[in-house]
Amino acid sequence: MTTHLCAAIMVESLDSALAQAAQAAERGADLVEFRIDQFVDDVDRVAELVQRCALPCIVTCRPTWEGGLYDGDDQARISLLEHIGTAARPPAYYDVELATYQRSANLRQKVDLVVDHPGQQREVSTGLILSTHDFKTRPSDLIQKIEHMAGADTCRIIKVAWPARSLRDNLEVFEIIEAKHKPTIALCMGEEGLASRVLAKKFGAFLTFAAVGDGTGTAIGQPTLEQIKRLYRWDDINADTRVYGVIGYPVAQSMSPAIHNAGFDQTGFNGVYLPMPIPPEYEHFKATVGSYLDYKSLHFRGASVTIPHKQNLLRFVRESGGDIEPLAKTIGAANTLTVRDDGSLYASNTDYDGALGAVCDGMGVSREGLSDKRVAVIGAGGAARAIVAGFAHCGATVVVYNRTFGKAQQLADEFDGKTGQVVAARLEKLCDSCCHVFINCTPIGMHPNVDATPVPTAPTGKGAIGGKGWGEGTVVFDTIYNPIETRLLREARAAGCTTISGTDMFTRQAAGQFKLWTNRDAPIDVFKRVLKERLEAMGE
Ligand code: NAP
Repeated sequence: MTTHLCAAIMVESLDSALAQAAQAAERGADLVEFRIDQFVDDVDRVAELVQRCALPCIVTCRPTWEGGLYDGDDQARISLLEHIGTAARPPAYYDVELATYQRSANLRQKVDLVVDHPGQQREVSTGLILSTHDFKTRPSDLIQKIEHMAGADTCRIIKVAWPARSLRDNLEVFEIIEAKHKPTIALCMGEEGLASRVLAKKFGAFLTFAAVGDGTGTAIGQPTLEQIKRLYRWDDINADTRVYGVIGYPVAQSMSPAIHNAGFDQTGFNGVYLPMPIPPEYEHFKATVGSYLDYKSLHFRGASVTIPHKQNLLRFVRESGGDIEPLAKTIGAANTLTVRDDGSLYASNTDYDGALGAVCDGMGVSREGLSDKRVAVIGAGGAARAIVAGFAHCGATVVVYNRTFGKAQQLADEFDGKTGQVVAARLEKLCDSCCHVFINCTPIGMHPNVDATPVPTAPTGKGAIGGKGWGEGTVVFDTIYNPIETRLLREARAAGCTTISGTDMFTRQAAGQFKLWTNRDAPIDVFKRVLKERLEAMGE
């Protein structure tokens, strides 16, 4: 069964609803739901709307007590269905709440008269969607409700919707669809419910809803048609599609879904990549990732893992008996989960590798070539830690400059002597530095504080290549990627340094993940283009 892509339109006027329906058809919808909650005064206009719509449609008049906007009486709205059903081109479906259908024999009779079902005596083509919505939580009697809908002969399609309490609620949605009681619309509202909407096609749901444009949706968490078609690869999703995502909290602003999905598209890889918000505690991480892995038909094959779960990933993979990349273990954080073909887990860190690759290419040296270089790392947080470990591992001499000197000292003590030398220094001493490479690992200069810089005075250390402090031969790398060129990089470029943007590290760490998951080289130019477009769009 094909899963329909249904544009949800809240009708305000005949003309605007028809215009939105036409746009929906252009943007790839093959079905429209007209929510006529506030458009019921003139039944002839409703009938005209259905007649003139370019796509088949569902007509829904949702009462306030079920989360809609209609506050009139039930008899009137059900009678309206009767009227539009007699027009030359009736709606493909009516959506009626299970509660309405069950509440009165009289209403039930009226509904039964206007929809197609095995006992229907008249020529009627409109199908009945019986629906139940809860806007507060998962209804405790959800299963009984589904059984009632499935048991009603008149009901052609079952619809259930509730707000996702966590990512795990998506799995119940998939179970409900896979149970195949009848063609089913099952979805979870809210940010955590996105998977239930995007993966509706993977599990064979009757439809998924999407908004025609930003701000026009009819429910919380409804993506736009553009997002579902282009960003989340609707046309390519099928039962075998592998699922990936970015796990963090929050993740709504993450650039990773745009990059990885574009990469899947470019290489023809059958995958889809979603934001996966998981609250901070380890128990949430373990329960969610564990249940996603256990749900076999989901084909959950990997994730980018970001703040605050990088340590949790290591612990989870260790406790699950999986493998951990040795340097990720040393760093104490991993950013990539890979589920291998045999189901075993692998945790690794592509952050340090992305940074090393960016600097080596920028300097035109191999990793071994770093062994006689001095690297100044500014900051002593999570990013600095991975970068210090990576450069020290290659034998470089690393100087950690940090506002809180004790943290720089701690980091230096931990990594000093493992391969390269690591020493700590006070941030004020940065202007005397004689390093070949300067790496900003603080958020100073990040959007919106774009006038700030971690290096207000260019270092003048005599040890720099050329012996004149910053200039030709010095490499300045800012891990910040928004803006693409920070004040630090602008000033370094003006001083003749080679500059490297955080976008370079970001696309490289993503490319490392892509390779692990797909066994294909990432289309790095596509990654760069998509990231640039996204960052520019954010700046508008
Ligand atoms: P973090 O763990 O919070 O560490 C932040 C570091 O910055 C700390 O050492 C902190 O010093 C220092 N810092 C913060 N504000 C400061 C200020 N006003 N003055 C002086 N020092 C200050 O953060 P993180 O996870 O390491 O991330 C740091 C940056 O790395 C982020 O802004 C992000 O843009 C970048 N990053 C980029 C990528 C990429 O792929 N391009 C990946 C990861 C991170 P104290 O110790 O004194 O608090």
